[in-house]
Amino acid sequence: MQKVFIYSDKFESLPYPASCPFNTSRPGLVRKLLDSKGLLTGAGIAEIAPEPATRAQLEQFHTKEYLSALQEGQDGKYSPDIFYMGLGTGDCPIFAGMYDYGALAAGATILGAQKIIAGETQIAFNPTGGLHHAHASRASGFCYINDQVLGCMTLAKAGKKVLYLDVDVHHGDGVQEAFYDRSDVMTVSMHQSGDTLFPGTGFVGEIGIGDGKGFSINLPLPPETGDQAYMRAFRTVVLPLIEAFAPDVFAMEIGADALEDDPLASLMLTNNLYADIIAELLTFGKPILATGGGGYNIENTVRAWSLAFTALCGAPAKDLRDEPLPISQSQQIAVDQILNITLNQARETLFPIHGL
Ligand SMILES: [Zn+2]
Repeated sequence: MQKVFIYSDKFESLPYPASCPFNTSRPGLVRKLLDSKGLLTGAGIAEIAPEPATRAQLEQFHTKEYLSALQEGQDGKYSPDIFYMGLGTGDCPIFAGMYDYGALAAGATILGAQKIIAGETQIAFNPTGGLHHAHASRASGFCYINDQVLGCMTLAKAGKKVLYLDVDVHHGDGVQEAFYDRSDVMTVSMHQSGDTLFPGTGFVGEIGIGDGKGFSINLPLPPETGDQAYMRAFRTVVLPLIEAFAPDVFAMEIGADALEDDPLASLMLTNNLYADIIAELLTFGKPILATGGGGYNIENTVRAWSLAFTALCGAPAKDLRDEPLPISQSQQIAVDQILNITLNQARETLFPIHGL
């Protein structure tokens, strides 16, 4: 089955303002890097272009009022009400392509979901997606339209059990909120703790409500968490829950802002961690719908996403890997002390719900 890289050069005509840290040149640079190494072609690998999501598709999650405000706002027509929708802030400035960029990014993630449902594609990667902070009627954290919610909804509507895994350094709050009372989409977010980072949510006790109780998983991590501690958290809490849930398909938000040297956050991962997590998911033999996300050290993000695509294709490119990052013993001890409490709390709260 096919592995697809979803991209369109139309994105390049809809950039975010230069003052915004969310740099929209990253997906195009990933495409260029992969192409220069011959990694966008080859057995079963194809590049496909998306169309913008339709208004009806976007309304599956977003409110009509909010979508109209986005559309009118990008044409310069807006009332003060838009400030209540998170628009016109430092994080979510009003700009000419804000609806069109979001709609095209959402169209790309939905296209990946449709290809998976049709049985044509095993792996779909949309580096322009992963806008996980957008809410139904509010923009937040550089995100206007939540492509991951729409991708997961498309998969769930086709009867698939979806495991959403978010490894962005920030809590995947918009996606959690969309599925908080549902058991057909399990959301898992591993992120720097809301005690020290935006958006200030994603604590272990946020486990879902009603039918969704136990299907919202959060692992807040202390600053300076490195590859080894992160992988221990994934293996001891997340993997058993994935096995118990037995998903039909994975959705993955691969924000690269958990890498060391990211200017907006304080985790200390290398890109090897992303390749290792992807390798764990591949052992389930299920399709993966992956997107980009955050990542504010541009060079590291571009290399991490390029490595992630090759890992998704089953052959992580050696020359894209970071050097291992030494972690001092005192740092390891400090991280482990906090992490152990979190992991115990997560196991005690979540495992009994899933018969573990
Ligand atoms: Zn982020």
